[in-house]
Amino acid sequence: MQNKIAHAAERKTFELILDGVMKYTKKERTKGFIQVVNAIEKVLGDVWSKDAYDKMREFLGTDSKWSRQLEHIIDTVDPHVLKTLMLNAGYEGGFRGFRDTMKNAEKIGCDVPYVVLFDPTSACNLHCTGCWAAEYGKTLNLSLEDMDSLVTQAKELGTHNFMMTGGEPLVRKADIVKLCEKHNDCAFMIFTNGTLVDDAFCEDMKRLGNIWLSLSVEGFSSATDGRRGEGTFDRVMAAMDKLHSYGLVYGTSICYTSVNYKDVTSDEFLDMLLSKGVLFSWYFHYMPVGNDASTDLLLNPEQREYMYHRIRAIRDWEGGKPIFTMDFQNDAEFVGGCIAGGKYYCHVNANGDVEPCVFIHYSSANIHNMSWVDCLHQPLFLAYQKGQPFNENMLRPCPMLENPGRLTQMIRETGAVSTDLLSPESSEHLCDKCTAYAQSWQPCAQHLWEENRAAKQATAEAKSAQAAE
Ligand code: SF4
Repeated sequence: MQNKIAHAAERKTFELILDGVMKYTKKERTKGFIQVVNAIEKVLGDVWSKDAYDKMREFLGTDSKWSRQLEHIIDTVDPHVLKTLMLNAGYEGGFRGFRDTMKNAEKIGCDVPYVVLFDPTSACNLHCTGCWAAEYGKTLNLSLEDMDSLVTQAKELGTHNFMMTGGEPLVRKADIVKLCEKHNDCAFMIFTNGTLVDDAFCEDMKRLGNIWLSLSVEGFSSATDGRRGEGTFDRVMAAMDKLHSYGLVYGTSICYTSVNYKDVTSDEFLDMLLSKGVLFSWYFHYMPVGNDASTDLLLNPEQREYMYHRIRAIRDWEGGKPIFTMDFQNDAEFVGGCIAGGKYYCHVNANGDVEPCVFIHYSSANIHNMSWVDCLHQPLFLAYQKGQPFNENMLRPCPMLENPGRLTQMIRETGAVSTDLLSPESSEHLCDKCTAYAQSWQPCAQHLWEENRAAKQATAEAKSAQAAE
């Protein structure tokens, strides 16, 4: 009880500080945000390293593309939405929740994910080529009670950041709104095809403040419509305009392949997204998951190296574009490699199966007949945690894509089974599709990783020399 009161008081304090900062004039805002970082460090200083807090202060105190972008966000996003997301995703999830998940991991004897991704439904209003949602087979749903129980149990362990995918989550808009309304101290990011975004849902997003969207696109209209169906691109663009008019937070989710990788990172494409008010873009490497998945869309080493440099150039301190880009396969160094299996994240499909990752469809735990704590203790998750990082080279993080033998071994040892109800794929079949890819990527990954380490070392030496002067 005492803890709950202290928590509420702490949240209120941060809320008041944020209210104050948002009222500041542009000139004073930087100072205000540095005050926020100082306050967080004072209260929750043990969560992140001192270096991380220093980096945040440096970021805020330096005039750069990103500090200017922060100004732009404050000026364009609805203040209630911005404050709620900062409090829920940042304070509750990123700081307090992160600390609690770490503490609870020690208590329960296995890692506690800081983000949980779940599928409200496997149903979708579109029929996209190669979508993993279709791979699970028939239409399945998590009831509102299932989702509520999952979020409630996860919250007890500290998790406050949730994501939804599917299927198309917005097929279940009404239940999602009820869930987000009840858990108004959590943040929910929804991966959506965007075609079901309407005024009523935007009103709900604005009222609640704790929902943000990531809209799927494959490129310009021919690529998006080619995969998702005629007219989809225009509907996604219209959804972005609507979200923008309500001052909501949204970005894009892009699966890059050997075919579209240059288009989806071109200046022209990014300028188009910026003109639509997109704030971030998550880039996902194509994964050949499913019995019928093609390997032709896997990138060759030159193509993947292009992505490595290009994504970093786009989000650089200056130049590039003011859109925050993250490449989940080439950015593993920032999170210590693979984050799946409950280390920082896991996935619950619409059948309730608790899987290590949205791309890894194997499990021996289900939320319908096990508690959340028991699901986290499933043998496959423990095997993940024992094996992580799967490679010292963070450009080879995955036990499937870059280290295919590791996944087959874990599945064999733990007896986890395929969660694809229609066409179960053996881990051998899945990993065999990645073997040639992994072998060809290895030398390039080695050379890039050595270069990366040398550059980091040089920066650290220059900084300590500067400090010594
Ligand atoms: S299993 Fe592979 S795709 Fe999933 S988080 Fe780990 S590295 Fe990424």
